[in-house]
Amino acid sequence: MSEIALRWAALKETVAALEKKYHRPAGTVQILAVTKMQSVADIQSALDAGIRMVGENYLQEALQKIPLLAALSPEWHFIGRLQSNKTRHVAAHFAWVHSVTSAKLAQRLHDHRPNHLPPLNMCIQINVDAENNRGGIDEKEALSLADYCRPLHRLRLRGLMALPTLNEDPQVTREAFHRLHACYTHLQQQGFSLDTLSAGTTHDLEAAIAEGSTLIRVGTALFGLRKKNVA
Ligand SMILES: *Cc1c(COP(=O)(O)O)cnc(C)c1O
Repeated sequence: MSEIALRWAALKETVAALEKKYHRPAGTVQILAVTKMQSVADIQSALDAGIRMVGENYLQEALQKIPLLAALSPEWHFIGRLQSNKTRHVAAHFAWVHSVTSAKLAQRLHDHRPNHLPPLNMCIQINVDAENNRGGIDEKEALSLADYCRPLHRLRLRGLMALPTLNEDPQVTREAFHRLHACYTHLQQQGFSLDTLSAGTTHDLEAAIAEGSTLIRVGTALFGLRKKNVA
């Protein structure tokens, strides 16, 4: 078994144990492998080990990797900061985007989603802590953005994403994820059928699973430290 296959097996066990610990039904937490600044060879090992969902942050890097791995048909998720000039490529090359933060971006993703592809799955990124510079909109703005997306049939709103500032105190992190989950529940009560709470990384996945995450985004625990030159 490759090193990555061993880490993948260990991570799945960790997640299963945390589901049990926090009374989450088995199999309710999915794992997205975050492959930014990891080599194509390592991503290939990950896919050989059975990983299907992969997440990239940087569009240019992703556009280089996607064709090289096409034979293994992974499901590509865009999780990086989104800007208007990236929406065309994101809409054409990804199955999911986790970082939608405005009506303008949603509209552009919708307009650019090619007709031969199924609707683009999306999450709204929420800023769940005060001094966060990691992107996302205020919880109070989530409902109006979700409403805006309702008629955009080339998009499918699946849920919410957050990337809270890392904090040494797990309680602080849990409170941030708790606010995210409250926002998610609120949208569900407003009639949105959401199934994805994209929350938790290598460093805070336990807090995220405790607070209802359905999809953790894990990079370094699977691949080790990010590399400087991967392209
Ligand atoms: C890099 C990144 C991750 C993965 O972080 P690790 O600490 O490597 O697990 C998850 N989500 C987002 C949005 C990221 O940018």
